[in-house]
Amino acid sequence: MKLSEISRTLREIRVTPVKTLGQNFLHDHNLARWIVQQAALSAADFVVEIGPGLGALTEPALATGAQILAIEKDARLVSFLREKFSERRLEIVHGDALEFDVRRLFPCGPVKLLGNLPYYAATPILLRFLEKTTPITSAMLMLQMEVATRLSASPRSKQYGILSLIVQSQCRVEFLRAIPASVFVPEPDVESALVRLTPRAPEELPDHDLEILRVLVRHGFSQRRKQVGKLLKEFFPDWPSAAAEIGAPMQARAEELSLEQWIKLANSVRPPSAPGAGTDPAELFAVVDENDLVIGSAPRAKVHGNNLRHRAVHLFIFNRAGELLLQKRSRWKDRHPNVWDSSAAGHMNAGEEYDQTAARELQEELGIATGLTRVAKISASARTGEEFIWLYRGEYDGPLQTSSAEIDAVQFFPLALIADWLQKRPGDFAPGFIECWQTFRSARNAGPNE
Ligand code: SAM
Repeated sequence: MKLSEISRTLREIRVTPVKTLGQNFLHDHNLARWIVQQAALSAADFVVEIGPGLGALTEPALATGAQILAIEKDARLVSFLREKFSERRLEIVHGDALEFDVRRLFPCGPVKLLGNLPYYAATPILLRFLEKTTPITSAMLMLQMEVATRLSASPRSKQYGILSLIVQSQCRVEFLRAIPASVFVPEPDVESALVRLTPRAPEELPDHDLEILRVLVRHGFSQRRKQVGKLLKEFFPDWPSAAAEIGAPMQARAEELSLEQWIKLANSVRPPSAPGAGTDPAELFAVVDENDLVIGSAPRAKVHGNNLRHRAVHLFIFNRAGELLLQKRSRWKDRHPNVWDSSAAGHMNAGEEYDQTAARELQEELGIATGLTRVAKISASARTGEEFIWLYRGEYDGPLQTSSAEIDAVQFFPLALIADWLQKRPGDFAPGFIECWQTFRSARNAGPNE
């Protein structure tokens, strides 16, 4: 839309831009097209646009053939957009992006995020959509210059701080270009910039515990001028050794440490589990006959290599809202890496009983203990990988201590969302989970009603 068109439209729909909603509309047609080109959209993409406004980015994005879900807070603009665009590929949600349930995007597959964000809420919006467990694979965002420079800042710069590290530990950040205030109507008080954020693949950085990394970074930057060793004293009583270990000067300030050095610090406070833990090929499994009677034991590698019948448990853990906890299997798993699975699951070791295995797996994978009840038994078949599986359920709502060697992420999901996701993208799930899900759904009295 040109400047004159925007003014006319706003008059026609009787909208005066609201400053508290960050309503600065883009009137540079070429720039809008360029932004969409940078997002590399195609008909195969599912796009979420935050704050479509009068549709400056929506229009060129629709022209790529992509499917778009646009979230707009202002009801007057929602009505306008619904009238302006009749494409079935566009769904306009009237709502607050800060309250949008990002989990509902998982069934949509890889999602690209696009938006000229309202500046009052740019940081919390991007943190919400780019949290660790996100279906978003890239984000093209227009932000106020100050936030853009903080996001993309390098060590030893004034802008480098908590936000830079929190976001850079999750995403690669590229500062694409500065955007002058004159391309918007009304003109904002500050300059803007376009950034591309790409969530990192798990193998891009050494495994680390995100929570402890964030705690350290927050402590380290609590007083920028102070030496970081003094601020992190409670975690590193022997700071000179810790500094030597990460290759930093003893008197370093927080802003001098790179992301990799922060990760090393986090890993010395809470070391990640060793890759391969839980997949020892020599581990002894109980081997059973076609009636699930134990006939001996054999090492993991032999059981899987020769398709011997064996035993396993799957655990479905629910929160108080009746949502099911799913785990994303780690990239270290020898079978079905990087897909979603039951809350916890595992093989029965030689000499164990099903209930013992269930309690052990709960402890090993999620770091918790809670009452478990049996739901149903699934017979061994090619579909279960020759496993007899007992499916258990339990309730838990507290903090989890997951094993990073086994689990990349955990997340509770509403049952209806899982059903939809599984139907649209079965490849996102481990086959064992699919078996258990179907059994769970058909087992009477097995779960809460949806
Ligand atoms: N995309 C349009 C453009 O480039 O011209 C409008 C961008 S304008 C900077 C921000 C838009 O976000 C406005 O349409 C505003 O109403 C909307 N908005 C503000 N707060 C929002 C929120 N919390 N959730 C969703 N949309 C919001």
